[in-house]
Amino acid sequence: MFIELEPIFNNVGEQKKFNFNIDLSDEEFDGIFPFKTPVMVAGVVKNSSGIVTLEYDVNLRYNGFCDRCAEEIERELSYSFEHTLVLSLNNEENDDLMLIEDLHFEVDPLAIEDIFLSLPTKILCSETCAGLCTACGKNLNHGRCDCEKEIDPRLAILQQLLENDE
Ligand SMILES: [Zn+2]
Ligand SMILES: [Zn+2]
Repeated sequence: MFIELEPIFNNVGEQKKFNFNIDLSDEEFDGIFPFKTPVMVAGVVKNSSGIVTLEYDVNLRYNGFCDRCAEEIERELSYSFEHTLVLSLNNEENDDLMLIEDLHFEVDPLAIEDIFLSLPTKILCSETCAGLCTACGKNLNHGRCDCEKEIDPRLAILQQLLENDE
């Protein structure tokens, strides 16, 4: 999606709304392809008192795997982003300012970058996910396994001390 920024920069009070979908089904993130459905992007670029800002919301479905039990999960995620656009930078470095080199501006690459920086690297199917048994690999959310429970060696010593006390 391209936006013509020239009329925005040249006219205080000017604004342009935009709304589009991006197909990210071929984009790999963290070893998987999480975007089975198009990502929705909606926002506005506007000139308020000579300051040009780009604000937009992103809504997406993230298909991934629980970090603990590896079960497949789908999450709806929403993010909001805001950038201040400038045509030239003064000497000082400012990460909040975005230098525009082409007034025929394509939003997609920026949106993709913003999304990828925001995606969670770890997702759990639930906060209380019991994970997998480290011995047999059974998903403990589906019930207990038959493995012997290993006793923490430090607890074993404590237990021995308690027994000796009696
Ligand atoms: Zn899980
Ligand atoms: Zn087990």
